[in-house]
Amino acid sequence: MGGDCCAQEGHGAGDARFDIKKVAEGVHLAFAAPAYKVNSNTAIIESDDGVVIVDTHSKPSAARVIVDRLRELTPKPVRYVINTHFHWDHWHGNEVYPAAYPGAEIVTNQITREAMLRKGLKRIQDHVRQVPAEIATLEADLAAATGAGQRAKLEHDLRMARSYLAEVKGLKPALPTIAFEQTMKIYRRDREIHLLHLGRAHTEGDVFVHLPREKVVITGDALIGWTPYMGDGYPEEWVGTLDRLAQLDFTHIIMGHGDVVGREWLATFRGYVHDLVEAVRREAATGAPLDEVKQRVPAALAPAYEKPFSRYGDYRPWRQQILGNIERTFAQVG
Ligand SMILES: [Zn+2]
Repeated sequence: MGGDCCAQEGHGAGDARFDIKKVAEGVHLAFAAPAYKVNSNTAIIESDDGVVIVDTHSKPSAARVIVDRLRELTPKPVRYVINTHFHWDHWHGNEVYPAAYPGAEIVTNQITREAMLRKGLKRIQDHVRQVPAEIATLEADLAAATGAGQRAKLEHDLRMARSYLAEVKGLKPALPTIAFEQTMKIYRRDREIHLLHLGRAHTEGDVFVHLPREKVVITGDALIGWTPYMGDGYPEEWVGTLDRLAQLDFTHIIMGHGDVVGREWLATFRGYVHDLVEAVRREAATGAPLDEVKQRVPAALAPAYEKPFSRYGDYRPWRQQILGNIERTFAQVG
């Protein structure tokens, strides 16, 4: 981390790191490196007359990194930016695109646009208020840290928290300019892009993007590479939504977080959500209190799921993340 410290301090340099990976002809994943202040992935879809981008990360400087990388990929302008859901790490970079590509439209469904207005805008103000305390905690942890490795990690996290705070304070939230009800289809000479709502899962309005010819689907956080966040989710309905997703024709999946996967990961992830809901429901039916459920359910599910959900090392550890999943599920089935 030490070597690139100074390049990250400058304004606009951006500390977000992406790996650009080709998924199909003209379709790329910008895979966001796991980070303390998480950034979503971006999908890049090039067509005859322009580019479609899916999701814009947690801050404008991250989206600017993508705009720079795009110029290496294609001279075509970005015409559409799609937001898969209302969470901060997927739309805070929106403002960059209409500024860089005049006329670019930002698209989502009506439910997600509504959620951005009702909850997303408020959360920006929450972050402005809360991140200073987070920074103070990191500073205290750093002052108390002894090991060199621990210090380096905390210094890096602290830099990210400070740059995030600076950016979130100056955010000019760019809300979607186009909102659809159930489905929207973009037709180009060489491509079809289907935007779908398949039911509630990670949020009330999750948008899926399907490229039927290329057999690629883009899922936002309804499917990710590590343990899902369920704080705004609907675990009981999530499984049905993933079953409707499974009915589409595709071989490659670009997720909200994590590398490209195939259908086998969809099956594992669906299995986790399904087994979680069933296990919590069984416990709740016996009248078990939440703190006991939070002990027994991880133990019951660990043999099947702890290893597959640890592909990114100790980033967002399953043992820790599942506790929030249990709380949300318990509140809904109880
Ligand atoms: Zn996310």
